[in-house]
Amino acid sequence: MTQSVSPSRRSNFLTDIIDADLAAGKNDQKVVTRFPPEPNGYLHIGHSKSILLNFGLAEQYQGRCHLRMDDTNPVAEDIDYVRSIEHDVAWLGGKWDGEVRFASDYFPRMYELAERLVQAGKAYVDSQDVEEMRKNRGDFGRPGVNSPFRERSIAENLDLLRRMKAGEFADGTHVLRAKVDMSHPNILMRDPLIYRIRHAHHHRTGDTWCIYPMYDYAHPLEDAIEGITHSICTLEFETNRELYDWFLDQTGPWNPRPRQYEFARLALGYTVMSKRKLLQLVQDKRVSGWDDPRMPTVAGMRRRGVTPEALRDFAERIGVAKNNSLVDIGKLEFSIRQDLEKRCPRALAVLRPVAVTLTNWPDDMVQQLDLPWWPGDPSQGTRKVPFSKYLYIDRDDFSADPPADWRRLAVGREVRLQGAYFVRCDAIERSPDGQVTGLRCSVDLHSRGGEAQDGRQPAATLHWVDARHSVAAEVRLYDRLFNVELPDGEGDFLQHLNPDSLQTVTARIEPALTEGPERVQFVRVGYFFRDGKDSQPGAPVWNQTISLKDSWTKAKQPARGAKAKAEAQTPQPTAPTTDWAALVASDPALTALQTRYGLDAAALGRLAQDGERLAYFQDAAAVAGDGALTLRWLQNDLAGALAGAPFAALPFDGKAFGRMMADLAAGKLTNTAAKALIPAWVKRGGEFAAVLADSGLAAPVQGDQLRTALAEVLAAHGAEVARYRQGETKLLGVLLGALMRQAKGCDPQAARAALMAELQS
Ligand code: ATP
Ligand code: MG
Repeated sequence: MTQSVSPSRRSNFLTDIIDADLAAGKNDQKVVTRFPPEPNGYLHIGHSKSILLNFGLAEQYQGRCHLRMDDTNPVAEDIDYVRSIEHDVAWLGGKWDGEVRFASDYFPRMYELAERLVQAGKAYVDSQDVEEMRKNRGDFGRPGVNSPFRERSIAENLDLLRRMKAGEFADGTHVLRAKVDMSHPNILMRDPLIYRIRHAHHHRTGDTWCIYPMYDYAHPLEDAIEGITHSICTLEFETNRELYDWFLDQTGPWNPRPRQYEFARLALGYTVMSKRKLLQLVQDKRVSGWDDPRMPTVAGMRRRGVTPEALRDFAERIGVAKNNSLVDIGKLEFSIRQDLEKRCPRALAVLRPVAVTLTNWPDDMVQQLDLPWWPGDPSQGTRKVPFSKYLYIDRDDFSADPPADWRRLAVGREVRLQGAYFVRCDAIERSPDGQVTGLRCSVDLHSRGGEAQDGRQPAATLHWVDARHSVAAEVRLYDRLFNVELPDGEGDFLQHLNPDSLQTVTARIEPALTEGPERVQFVRVGYFFRDGKDSQPGAPVWNQTISLKDSWTKAKQPARGAKAKAEAQTPQPTAPTTDWAALVASDPALTALQTRYGLDAAALGRLAQDGERLAYFQDAAAVAGDGALTLRWLQNDLAGALAGAPFAALPFDGKAFGRMMADLAAGKLTNTAAKALIPAWVKRGGEFAAVLADSGLAAPVQGDQLRTALAEVLAAHGAEVARYRQGETKLLGVLLGALMRQAKGCDPQAARAALMAELQS
């Protein structure tokens, strides 16, 4: 692809920052960005957003963008992934500056800087075991405790670090830590790890190293070493920024001094995007590979026939935001259709053939019709399409028992075959058991080219192919891989796989497609792309990139008559899509609410369908502070207790509900008690506190009790904890269940937060 990443000038909060930096003369007026994937999987559409953003900004400001493999973790990384990443970035139009860079090339420099930190008294070797370190780190409400090794002398630290590097110690015996502040309010700042010992083979540095830098140390240095000016990452790294800055300040001065900025990661409905989950789909053979056309990977979309231009259009449409939201997959599909509509020549293919015999056509006569690739514009080229006595049409275009408003072929009806002749069905051929095996038709020999001499117009124009001269092709029809919008939501994501996501049919395609374009519109069906991997000479395979129309949205509308009947044969989706993000974006008041509370567009859009409820929510959220929490409880529990009655019927106002939410957010009230008592409150009215006081439901389990329970659960489930840390994150449910049993009556959210803090340390 030679097209550039950024055809038009875009503006967003990042361009505002860059404009200000340039105006202030920062970074010698340079803009240097980077795309830093970890080579442990294929790139997905979320990455493509980041690629288009980083390369696009560099291009827009005549700067540079680096492609850097963030390969600081020796396990799980692989050279095949490196190749696929390079290929995908290039295909998307990313032109990286110079060679592909590897973080592992900076290992010597990172180590040298670590020694400098030790010499400056800013880092020390800690020899506590993992458990002690975790215990002494404290938690949200509790400061940490200094390690007994924190005051080692510089000489001793240096000696130990060098021996760690030389391989004298086993994994886990020592770590190098930054000396920041064990009571820092940001837990990440409590003496973060810099190096850990890992006797592991690295795909590029081999066995040179047995200590590897932690992400939070490595990443800012990689940026600084490369002279990155604007280091753009996703929102989850917001709290890491303080540490990013600390490491740069302690190792600098750097010129330019990189700055980290966060934007919202892309989340798409009906899709999973975590590399771990995508890997699981591949390993469990739920899909044919990373490049299965149903996968949200760049490789999968390319094989399906999506173009880089469509992805770019999509990225531009969704823009760059500072708060996370779920993007309607309909937007992606819209961009794909728009792009293909302009670039795809038209061709004839019949996916579910039924045989047609033209009784009044001479047995051996074959006409080669000259049909334009672009309808109405023969100047763009034509192809020969054979037409003879034996044809196929799609069986969905014929009805043996036509409903009243049927417009296509039926006995006694006439249709136009596109670019060819008018035909009328005279009789149906049936097998002994009554199945339709073919249609006997007569042709109007004077209608060649699709126009009758008397000017009559049939109600329908059908696509068709010649029976003897068409080619059999395997056609793969794809539907969404998951049948719910949020497969990551409840339970195991695999249970939401759409069993009908792939349908294979043996179609008949016109002969010109064997040599012709690889990306076409099959007239009246959809956009298709020849599969480069599975097609064999004489046995082509075509992938459906996308149908002509959005069948998901269509399915929402009340189906009528013949159309409904014909559509009933294609798998019908279960969930409609509404463009909530667009709805919210179109209303300044909603946009303001969304920004203020960081609300999910879909959730807010749904709420806004009921103006009374929206006003009630605004009162409540203003008191509660936490709008997202309030919205969730309002929509689930409060609305649930109302059972369809209007919000005006509530015996307490939004402010009262907000006060209850504030208590919940502050941990003064447990989720369990809130859930149990909302129905009673809705009946009784007044303040929630009064209902709670009368209920005798226990006060929240105190922090100390929760900590004790957590320690017991972790001790009893050592094996599960270890497996969780190795990536089996679904064990979270098991551990959380155990903790909830151990700390009866505790707030599930507090328990979850405490458990996650332990597991991720
Ligand atoms: P995963 O969580 O699936 O493993 P990752 O974020 O760990 O993904 P990386 O290889 O580290 O994968 O990502 C490379 C870059 O792509 C990072 O800068 C990251 O911010 C960005 N990125 C990853 N996922 C998304 C997404 N969904 N939307 C936007 N950017 C993303
Ligand atoms: Mg990552």
